Amino acid sequence: MTIIKNGNLVTEDKVIREDLAIVKGKIARMAPSIEPGPGDQVIDAAGLMVFPGFIDAHTHLDMDNGVTVTADDFASGTLAALLGGTTSIIDFATQARGESLSQTLDKWNAQADGRCLCHYGCHMSVTDWNEAVKGELPAMFEKGISSFKVYMAYDHLRVRDRDLFELLLELRILGGLLGVHCENGDLVNAGIQRQKEQGRLDPLAHALSRPPLVEAEAVHRLLAIAKFAGCVVNVVHLSSALGMEEIRRARAAGQRVLVETCPQYLLLEDSCYKDPEAGRNYVCSPPVRSEADRAALAEAVKSGEIDTISTDHCSYTLAQKAMGRGDFSRIPNGLPGIEHRPIAILGSFWGALPAPALARLLAGNAARLYGMYPKKGAIREGSDADLAVYDPDACTVISAKTQHMKTDYNPYEGMTLKGAVRDVLLMGDHVVQKGRLVGTPKGSYLLRKAVDVSL
Ligand SMILES: [Zn+2]
Repeated sequence: MTIIKNGNLVTEDKVIREDLAIVKGKIARMAPSIEPGPGDQVIDAAGLMVFPGFIDAHTHLDMDNGVTVTADDFASGTLAALLGGTTSIIDFATQARGESLSQTLDKWNAQADGRCLCHYGCHMSVTDWNEAVKGELPAMFEKGISSFKVYMAYDHLRVRDRDLFELLLELRILGGLLGVHCENGDLVNAGIQRQKEQGRLDPLAHALSRPPLVEAEAVHRLLAIAKFAGCVVNVVHLSSALGMEEIRRARAAGQRVLVETCPQYLLLEDSCYKDPEAGRNYVCSPPVRSEADRAALAEAVKSGEIDTISTDHCSYTLAQKAMGRGDFSRIPNGLPGIEHRPIAILGSFWGALPAPALARLLAGNAARLYGMYPKKGAIREGSDADLAVYDPDACTVISAKTQHMKTDYNPYEGMTLKGAVRDVLLMGDHVVQKGRLVGTPKGSYLLRKAVDVSL
């Protein structure tokens, strides 16, 4: 038995000062005092906060964007995740056009299986909707995939509104949640062309080519389609105040809408694009927005309007980013973040939000929405003993020099954040001790269940 003594346990609605006993990888008991017997392992968590292991529900590991492959594969990505307190990730398996979903899943499994240090699963990104793909959906659920994604932008990925609508109708029957990349693909293409015609090829032109209204229009259209289908949808990586307004409007009219945002939209602002060289290292889509957008989204987090915060981790090295030197449209899109999301959010919002609300944003809500609750995302008896121990009195300075992600830069370089993730337990194993990896942790595949997505 392993006992965490004297810790402050962050449950879903309150913080309790209790001891926690782990037996066979599960939380067996929580009580004001649990005394160790002979052979029991004791972890003293006096003064520390014990969170459910964090869940990053939006990662792109070992992903080929058609030109280059992300810097992090499943081994380096999940190592970095674990050291930051993230015990489960949900990555994306992305269908290539003409491919069946089972072929897509086989390829993704070949990349991920046996390499992950934390638990892992995938959303299925549908890019080629047809009758055969529709017929494959039940088999995806049998394989533990209950969440899907479509893109409204990128010519090689995006689906038509009609396809989106038909997929939603099927997912409503099967209990599958659809996440959507909301940007108007036609306007993005036109915006890129317009910047080039004006002679703008620098990284700032990337942001100018796809302003907030391009996101807001897609959010608006998606919510209309979802309402027509009678289905809850999840707006992923929301980046703008204008997009948030569309979600507020729909919610005010009684529609249930889920929304995810990411650390880059809460901690960074678009002056990062000003330097024509360093600016490209911040290129992601949607782009980092203005200070006003950043502040508006941070307020939305505080007011409880955001459901989940994930990373959209999609990492490239400086050399890869330099493929777009002199042409912003050739810069590989994406930022690293899988390692520092928990500390970035805890450090930024500590005191502004109660610890249980932070736990829901970083773990509990994703567990519920993605069919893993209460096995994951909760500190309660019977749940898996995936835990992250946070020291609110410590301090973390983010730097590429000390990170484990395979990028040779960090967008948050030099940022000093309150607190530190000190210890991590994976199925009760004490795999991170005072910030250092111990042993050779192995994550399990997340067999996720269907969820209720009807409006
Ligand atoms: Zn993404």
